[in-house]
Order: sequence, then structure tokens, then C-alpha cells
Amino acid sequence: MRDRLNKFMQGRYGVDQFARFTLGVALFVIVVGSFIRRSAAGSVLDMIGMILIIYTYFRILSRNVSARYAENQKYLGYTQKIRGQFNREKSMMEQRKTHHIYTCPGCGQKIRIPRGKGQKVEIECPKCHQKFIKRR
Ligand SMILES: [Zn+2]
Repeated sequence: MRDRLNKFMQGRYGVDQFARFTLGVALFVIVVGSFIRRSAAGSVLDMIGMILIIYTYFRILSRNVSARYAENQKYLGYTQKIRGQFNREKSMMEQRKTHHIYTCPGCGQKIRIPRGKGQKVEIECPKCHQKFIKRR
């Protein structure tokens, strides 16, 4: 079974970030559509979802690898800013586990202080050199 699948996928493009995105949107649209199934908008959403799924599989199974690769690059280019923002938020969340992030009362600069045992420390803002005291 696995062999047959491997053989089938040989020379075909496969899953990329853009495929995950279109499939995600498709599932989202179908779920939303299922809540309003009885209205016209519900069946339109259903149809959009189906089309997106077909399109996703068309891309995954495509033999035109370079065209699909170019589409994915385009998608990554368009979404670079949003994904960058998202990754920044994510790393900020992770940093909050190991660091305190304080905002300088003088200039609003964000300052990262490694978490300690709750003792007070004097922090000097690297930008405007204002000093303030916080717990770490
Ligand atoms: Zn400052």
C-alpha cells in the first residue's frame, strides 16, 4: 500500500505551505458553511470549500513541479509580513516564560530582563538611559 502510494506520488509535486493554507481555508469555509447550511450563503461556502479542496489536490498531485513551486514562492512572498508578525508574537510569548518584558516609562522602549527570584533590580533603559526599579 505504501509502495503504491509512493509510486503514485513519484514525480508529483506534493504538499507545500500554500497547499496547507488553501486546505485550511477550505476546511474553515466548510465548517462555517455547515452552520448556515439552510441559507444560500451556506451552499456558496460549501461550494467554495469544495473548489478549494479540489484545487489543493490538483496542486499536490500536479506533475508541473516548477509551476507549483513558483506559486508557493509567491504565496510565501505575499504572506511574509503576516508570518513574520506571527512569529514575533510567538517568540515574544516564549520569551515571557524566561524573561520579563518591561516598557521604559521614559521612552516606551521594550526591555527584556531575565526572570529571577522576585528581587528588585534597577534597570537602565538602553535608549534614553532613564533608570527605574522593577522586580525580576
Ligand atoms: Zn527609555
